[in-house]
Amino acid sequence: MTDAPRKLKPATLLVHGGTTRSSFGEISEAMFLTQSFAYPTMEAAEARFKGDDPGFIYSRFSNPTVAMFEQRMCLLEGAEAARATASGMAAVTAAMMAQVKAGDHVVAARALFGSCLYVVEDLLPRFGVSSTLVDGADLAQWKAAVRPETKLFFLESPTNPGLEIYDLKAIADVAHNAGARLVVDNVFATPLLQKPFDFGADVVVYSATKHIDGQGRCLGGVILSSQAIIEENIHNFLRQTGPAMSPFNAWVMLKGLETLPLRVGQQAASAAKVADFLAEQKGVTKVLYPFRKDHPQAELARRQMLGGGTLVSFLLESKEAAFRLANALQVVKISNNLGDAKSLVTHPATTTHQRLTPEARATLGITDGMLRLSIGLEDADDLIDDLAAGLAAAGRG
Ligand SMILES: *Cc1c(COP(=O)(O)O)cnc(C)c1O
Repeated sequence: MTDAPRKLKPATLLVHGGTTRSSFGEISEAMFLTQSFAYPTMEAAEARFKGDDPGFIYSRFSNPTVAMFEQRMCLLEGAEAARATASGMAAVTAAMMAQVKAGDHVVAARALFGSCLYVVEDLLPRFGVSSTLVDGADLAQWKAAVRPETKLFFLESPTNPGLEIYDLKAIADVAHNAGARLVVDNVFATPLLQKPFDFGADVVVYSATKHIDGQGRCLGGVILSSQAIIEENIHNFLRQTGPAMSPFNAWVMLKGLETLPLRVGQQAASAAKVADFLAEQKGVTKVLYPFRKDHPQAELARRQMLGGGTLVSFLLESKEAAFRLANALQVVKISNNLGDAKSLVTHPATTTHQRLTPEARATLGITDGMLRLSIGLEDADDLIDDLAAGLAAAGRG
């Protein structure tokens, strides 16, 4: 029943970290599909409810398999505490709702995952929490948005689908000077390629659905923070409202974490290669990849990320060309998901961002000709051949 010590490197922590074993001594993490736990005596039940005995009570708020996943995520992220949730959106919603009350104010970058935008723009105001959306790249806008009642800053970097990079350190400083906390949705960067706590983030959230599972199977989410914030704000909210991760999904995520460095390393290398290929093609008007020299914030990306990530966005002339390209792909599948072993292409303007007005899309740089690629584990040369065939089809318009 030992945790891996902190000095081990991430790849090792991701294989061993957080593992606890039952009396059978199983090597692979056990899946505890149980709702509740038996107490040997009434006194033991009393002690557990009082918090004098740290054992498990009920899987809505704690379960041995889920706890292993939470502990492994803590070791990876360098966080004191974590709570797993049923989905990434459950993590985002809980991280926000559990830290604010009526009368408070939230500032968020405008370039947010669609459902995160709903939480900030529509849901919070219904409960008396006002919000301001800013251009995340413009530090002056973050500063100007601050009010005495501002409690949270919220952002994603790189953004979806524009892959814009925000200066985490500078934004965290503005938040802290205002007495607010910074919450970072770190999905696009992955927990390996960006460490928001190193730049001052107070809370980090993930959709584990993406790279953490990594093979497109289960939904999941996780909230990481200090012991104090998890205990004071997050734990009770989750315990009483119940967006719990299932032990089955926690087990899938634990196994996913074991291969995370191999997968993300391979996917990021292929993404860089695909981005370089696309940049040379006639018909491609722009390629967005954080570690390419032509990325507007390439220098900042290299300062705060350890790799360019597994997503590539690029622009064609028109929606028709984008559709012809995507429809001609044979290896890459059409899907709005990301972080899967299978490469996926999506057309943000007509899917994930179709609810936005054309003006709002234009502000975010989402043109009708934009495609977003999530690079999977196929051979990069096959992906490039597939895209070459797609580009040929696009050009035949
Ligand atoms: C997918 C995603 C979410 C939501 O996660 P789910 O697991 O689908 O609920 C939130 N933020 C970002 C950046 C995402 O990519």
